[in-house]
Amino acid sequence: MAAQTPPTRDASDPFGPLSNLENPPDIILRSSDTEPVDFHTHRSILAFASPFFRDMFTFPSNGQDLVKDGKPIVPVFEESATLEKLLILCYPRFSGTGFNNLDGVVKAYNAVDKFLIPDGQTFLEQIMASPKFLEKEPHRVFAIACVLHLEELAKAAAMETLKLPRFVSALSIPEFDLITARHLRQLEVFHATCSQSAIARAERYAHMQPVGEQEGHFVWWTSQNHAPGCGYTYDDTVGEYVFPARWFSDHIAAAKNAANNIPAVESVLKAVNEVSYANLETLLKCPECRRDAKGSLSMMEREMEYDLRMDYRRVRSRLAIGIRFLTILSVNRYWLGLHFHNNEYFANFDF
Ligand SMILES: [Zn+2]
Repeated sequence: MAAQTPPTRDASDPFGPLSNLENPPDIILRSSDTEPVDFHTHRSILAFASPFFRDMFTFPSNGQDLVKDGKPIVPVFEESATLEKLLILCYPRFSGTGFNNLDGVVKAYNAVDKFLIPDGQTFLEQIMASPKFLEKEPHRVFAIACVLHLEELAKAAAMETLKLPRFVSALSIPEFDLITARHLRQLEVFHATCSQSAIARAERYAHMQPVGEQEGHFVWWTSQNHAPGCGYTYDDTVGEYVFPARWFSDHIAAAKNAANNIPAVESVLKAVNEVSYANLETLLKCPECRRDAKGSLSMMEREMEYDLRMDYRRVRSRLAIGIRFLTILSVNRYWLGLHFHNNEYFANFDF
């Protein structure tokens, strides 16, 4: 009975069979998935980019090669998502735009040593840090960075999560299976700590102040020329203290709510500078606030921006996800990889 061959499918562009008509592919790399994927590639490009491929292609044939469309097929041990990433790293002209998703990046990052692709890890780190992924999928980049012990990338991703609500529904991240609860908890604490910091900074501007010591350059702390019921208020039930104009207290309460959910600096500053319609209606009834509120809010925004960035820098510096101690191995990666993987190749490929 003839041996059953698993069904295969061709990769999509840029590694499909017809993806380069001017310079057609001349070799197929077949992935190790249950339903293998055939990547139509160029022998010369891969050999130039990776000594591993170069050695693989110069290995003498035993005359029993698998062939498809006149192209020899080389089975490799990587799954299709990983293999695709590795091949993109080998094709300079795809390097900028070839990465459409982060599938297989963890395995590709760890396989770069095996395939001896120069600067492959550095390049993958740059791809993950690009806005395309860092801004769009910060939780996923954070998880991948934790798996790979890339601390700076993890910190950059954590900062990006501040632009999203603390609880993001419908997050589907395969790499969450690979990180510990400690890492996820660290991310939650990071988000919450930044929120608390932003709330405290906003709170400071509306907190009661000792009579005569209020910050007079902000219109909500003055008493002259305001409409009746506006300007600071004195409350002797708490001693010799005053409270800012009512509309401002309400405005800061709203800004704190916003910062509690989305604490990114830009979001907090926007919440601080943009008065809600209801509060705006109140402040516009007062000629003094109508004249000075905009200037006072802008001044507060500038002060807060500096303080928040300093606060967040401190919180970020405390986020420690662990170092990549295995990097030591990469000192000898070329020889280790060549020796080990050539044996693997001998044993499994008849090419
Ligand atoms: Zn006023």
